[in-house]
Amino acid sequence: MVIEYVGQNIRQVIADMREKRYEEEGIGSSYMFRVDHDTIIDATKCGNFARFINHSCNPNCYAKIITVESQKKIVIYSRQAINVNEEITYDYKFPIEDVKIPCLCGAENCRGTLN
Ligand SMILES: [Zn+2]
Repeated sequence: MVIEYVGQNIRQVIADMREKRYEEEGIGSSYMFRVDHDTIIDATKCGNFARFINHSCNPNCYAKIITVESQKKIVIYSRQAINVNEEITYDYKFPIEDVKIPCLCGAENCRGTLN
């Protein structure tokens, strides 16, 4: 285990409202992490180091949803040994959308877009 992705647990309706508000305020909405169909963890204004972990198409970590005392949590686990000063990354696995977000991870197998 590397770190838990911590933030506020919110429902889809709230996530949609916040996404609009963050856009108006000039804050990106990339700190929202979907747990399941109706739960999102929003680390935009309250979170930990995990929210700064970048995406990679060839990551050294992965995100997994686990249940602790009936509460779902997002935990980042390593896939391999990680060296000192090596960047920690995981695959965001964003759903496919028409408006593409370019991927700049630089991996040999880069998919070119995040979604
Ligand atoms: Zn990539």
